Amino acid sequence: MSFETKEDVLLQVLTQKRPKCTYCGKKMRIWEVPQFPFEDGLGWGTPYLFVCFNNRCPMYEQGWDNIRRNYGRHASYRCICYPGSNTYACMAIFSQNGATGQIIDDEIATAKLQALKTAIERKISFLEDCFAAKDWQSVLKVLLDPIEQDIIRIKAVDLIGEIGTTEAIEPIRNKNFGNGFLLKKIEKSLGKIHERFSTRECPFCSEIIRKKAKACKYCGGVLPVSEKIPPKQGIFDRQS
Ligand SMILES: [Zn+2]
Ligand SMILES: [Zn+2]
Repeated sequence: MSFETKEDVLLQVLTQKRPKCTYCGKKMRIWEVPQFPFEDGLGWGTPYLFVCFNNRCPMYEQGWDNIRRNYGRHASYRCICYPGSNTYACMAIFSQNGATGQIIDDEIATAKLQALKTAIERKISFLEDCFAAKDWQSVLKVLLDPIEQDIIRIKAVDLIGEIGTTEAIEPIRNKNFGNGFLLKKIEKSLGKIHERFSTRECPFCSEIIRKKAKACKYCGGVLPVSEKIPPKQGIFDRQS
């Protein structure tokens, strides 16, 4: 049950001892992975990496020759290291300045971390205001926004469970949530909404129907009984 926010990784990157390149021994730099409009972990699986940008690094210097000989292309490699691990790998680059635009120095990293923290705090307090006003529509908007950080969306899904109405269910069902952790939370929150409104989703057509309905009024499907029969208290179940 672990997930890491961009903020977590940046903090780790800033506080961790800077790794040294396994090929040249030079200290690696913090590199921000370019953002793609995907939310399902495509790419490097981390928002920051350590990268050796030493132009005298043997991995880099010899890379040009290796790639030309083997693939007939003009490219080379930079040594990379995953934050919080000793996992080294390499990434292809296509010019001497390739990927250098995403290098961030410590000062910028610290400022970015502060900005991220402030943005998160502001958003959390916005969500709390929505909660107080029972404005579940605004909370839903945050939950459905793929650009929002997971930590914010997790907060939103908790609040939706508390104040959302059955109208919130369909838009959530129609959205593809990449994050497995978020998905579990969503099921829990939708369950809470159904509980509050005595509803459930028809297993045949997914329409929202009354919990006690014996047949679905939308598709006519005959429904299994939803209520759980409380277990009989036998002599062995009794708590002493
Ligand atoms: Zn190196
Ligand atoms: Zn139905």
